[in-house]
Amino acid sequence: MFEITDSVVDEANELVKTTVHEMCKTLRKPYNDLPLPSGWKPKVKCVWSGKQKISYGGINGITLAMKSIIMQPNFVEYASIDKDPTIGGFETQDWRIRLKAVIAHELAHAAGQYIWIEKDRNPALLRTRHGRIDYVKAHGDGWRRIYALLRSTHVNQYI
Ligand SMILES: [Zn+2]
Repeated sequence: MFEITDSVVDEANELVKTTVHEMCKTLRKPYNDLPLPSGWKPKVKCVWSGKQKISYGGINGITLAMKSIIMQPNFVEYASIDKDPTIGGFETQDWRIRLKAVIAHELAHAAGQYIWIEKDRNPALLRTRHGRIDYVKAHGDGWRRIYALLRSTHVNQYI
């Protein structure tokens, strides 16, 4: 059975940092046309306690359930999208790829919620295409678009 050694923990924590950095850079690129401010980057928490089974992401940042991500044999998505070729689940022996996919999933929640709230603060945004995209629904249209961008740029070439 795979064991989580200190060196795995160090490598995973480092991979989280670099992956979040690179993915946020992608989301902030002007040609991706997402209304995120130049320094946008959510808070990130890596929880190594086995009690934390579920990762989540939102306006306050992302929390990663490191043990379950690393020990799970495959990357499984929500049933409604699990078969999707871009944002669906996949099989891999490599925990690094699963970790990147979870980060993409949760960052998409964080970015989507930011944009949803920003639409309230900034009425001009409602007149852009983002005004018509649903960023409220947890795994809705806005989330899927952001997640697909991250998956196709940073994850899917490894699966
Ligand atoms: Zn989710």
